[in-house]
Amino acid sequence: MSNADLLTRSLAAVWHPCTQMKRHETLPLVPIQRGQGVWLYDFDGRRYLDAVSSWWVNLFGHCNPHINAAITDQLGKLEHVMLAGFTHEPAVRLAERLAQLAPPGLGHCFYASDGASATEIALKMSAHYWRNNGKPQKMNFISLQNSYHGETLGALSVTDVALFKDAYGGLTRHNATVPSPDWRHAAAGESAQDYALRCAEALERHLQQHHASLAAFIVEPLVQGAAGMAMYHPVYLRRARELCDQYGVHLIADEIAVGMGRTGTMFACEQAPPPQPLPQSERGYGITPDFLLISKGISGGYLPLSVVMTTDEIYRAFYADETARGFLHSHSYTGNPLACRAALATLDIFGQDNILAANRSKAAYLNRIAAPLRKHPGVRNFRNTGMIWAFEVESPHAGFAQRCFTLALEQELLLRPMGNTVYFMPPYVISEAEMDMLVERTLHIVEALA
Ligand SMILES: *Cc1c(COP(=O)(O)O)cnc(C)c1O
Repeated sequence: MSNADLLTRSLAAVWHPCTQMKRHETLPLVPIQRGQGVWLYDFDGRRYLDAVSSWWVNLFGHCNPHINAAITDQLGKLEHVMLAGFTHEPAVRLAERLAQLAPPGLGHCFYASDGASATEIALKMSAHYWRNNGKPQKMNFISLQNSYHGETLGALSVTDVALFKDAYGGLTRHNATVPSPDWRHAAAGESAQDYALRCAEALERHLQQHHASLAAFIVEPLVQGAAGMAMYHPVYLRRARELCDQYGVHLIADEIAVGMGRTGTMFACEQAPPPQPLPQSERGYGITPDFLLISKGISGGYLPLSVVMTTDEIYRAFYADETARGFLHSHSYTGNPLACRAALATLDIFGQDNILAANRSKAAYLNRIAAPLRKHPGVRNFRNTGMIWAFEVESPHAGFAQRCFTLALEQELLLRPMGNTVYFMPPYVISEAEMDMLVERTLHIVEALA
């Protein structure tokens, strides 16, 4: 195929996701033939730096040799087997390793194939837990304003993105939202921490009133990705954990985007500050949610895989003689061996290359070289958590996101702004030279559009 051939045939045969297809009459699709490290290439050798990790999934570059080798090895052994009534080594080894890495107490892994399914599973498991415990009226959920937990109907019922709500809200159950601790909404002079505590008070009022009918509170820890990389103070997570305990409501941590090292720790929940006053136990850091959702980066960006991790207490509520007390959910590709091997290879790289420490220096480097961007008069709210950066651009132009995307492609960058928010979420293998290029060229784009 050639670039032109691929584009024509794609528009004729493929309905692209989250896309007004008519727009492609004027805005061409970007043809991709192959990938290598942070780079994507078309058929003519034109390249793009994948600064969004292909929708936040890629961690260690495209065509990573270690992950390629693991999948190839697995292909020669077992491509797939159903996970109901059967088991296999990659699924078991991955569950064991995740239990060691995750916040303590999450010893049971339920597999699915994508993030939205992980959300569905957690919602169903939570409500079913309460039913099994004689509280069937606890079947409502709450989420944060501007939350995003996926786009299937159940996940959409706890997603608060106007575009999706308007089109499909009538098809979903209504679930309430509580104020987001996103620090951009803090009052003048109010710190991010104080604002997070103020939002936690609103959460408390809601729980006080509604806990009898609430199954769970679902939250994106530290960064609300689809809200435009909204960042907030980790004290909110500590308060959410305490309040959910106090009112008997499950806490679901959706780490689909922020897990796997993206916020600087393996899981964002680890950054919750210790409770006050400090307990005697040495386990003072981080919180353990009742459900931890992982997807996106788990397979290194290779294959669809998601995991819902939960506690022994929840697991035991389903353990009984009656089938109907068991958790009734399955997907054809649950626990696919190739995806589990990709995930195991991804975890190997974290261990061998001390990735979290390396990312800390990379983040410090990018923050240093981004000073001109941060200080640019058209740039607002420059922010960073781990390996995520974001800022708003004050632009007189309508259609900023589209213009920025197009200019970025001309500069060999793959940027995909959300509204006026530009963000970087690069693969962890990005080099200093590539960061230089990313920041310098983004500055040119900002200068052209601000
Ligand atoms: C991407 C995402 C999802 C949905 O995952 P899909 O695999 O796209 O269904 C859910 N929650 C968060 C926080 C996400 O970023």
